[in-house]
Amino acid sequence: MTSYMIEIKRDTSRMKMRRKWMVTGIFFLSLSFFLFPSSSQKKDSYTQMRKNMVQSQLKARDITDERVLEVMKKVPRHLFVSPRYKNQAYEDHPLPIGEGQTISQPYIVALMTQYLDVNNDEKVLEIGTGSGYQAAVLSHLAAQVYSIEIREKLAQKAAQRLNRLHYDNVMVKCGDGYFGWEKHAPFDAIIVTCAANHVPPSLMKQLKEGGKLIIPLGSVRYFQTLTLITKVDGEPKVKHISGVRFVPMIGEAQKRDRQ
Ligand code: SAH
Repeated sequence: MTSYMIEIKRDTSRMKMRRKWMVTGIFFLSLSFFLFPSSSQKKDSYTQMRKNMVQSQLKARDITDERVLEVMKKVPRHLFVSPRYKNQAYEDHPLPIGEGQTISQPYIVALMTQYLDVNNDEKVLEIGTGSGYQAAVLSHLAAQVYSIEIREKLAQKAAQRLNRLHYDNVMVKCGDGYFGWEKHAPFDAIIVTCAANHVPPSLMKQLKEGGKLIIPLGSVRYFQTLTLITKVDGEPKVKHISGVRFVPMIGEAQKRDRQ
């Protein structure tokens, strides 16, 4: 009788120990789940952040073009910013991309893309590749995107990144975008993502009849007006969109500063 009771006691204490170890194991497992999320968990959370961004920053404002909304849901913006800003990639503000330059806030990227209204058989020219994000967004909507970046380091990094992410219809070159890209002209649309106080004449020349050019125009040191120009019978038809603040266009644009 006594020995039997002792056996039971031993068993229950062993079970208690086992339960203790199991609870501890589960605790540490869940802790590691939160502290070190797997790459697929992280991927899911970026997808969710993108969805929220589209809902609260784009749909809630005036981005109505379904194609633009879809693309903004797709392009992994967090892979275009410096790693330390990854967690802020889907927030409602611009972010540094190195060399003192910035990537525009998601809303401005979407707004410019919406106004350009490109189709999948069209050619687009971008001035100011920066991180390559705007080019990636456009690449989903156009047949071919040509992008020019004046800072060699940024041009190189963007070209490598776009290549790695298989944006195969984007071509990047390092140079002064003030002169456009004669070899591939004329373009159906041109997007300038740096500020100038006048429209570079070569860009107007390289724009197709009926084509659209969007550019932040105004004081390069302070604020500009996002301006949409449509080429009608060879003449610019101008529409002012909104006040914006972009980094300045350097190179020839600065030399010919008309302020
Ligand atoms: N569109 C970019 C952000 C552009 S920031 C993105 O999606 O990340 C503006 C960029 O214009 C900077 O990288 C700057 O170096 C570039 N830039 C300035 N002057 C330029 C010029 N004359 N020709 C081409 N790029 C220019």
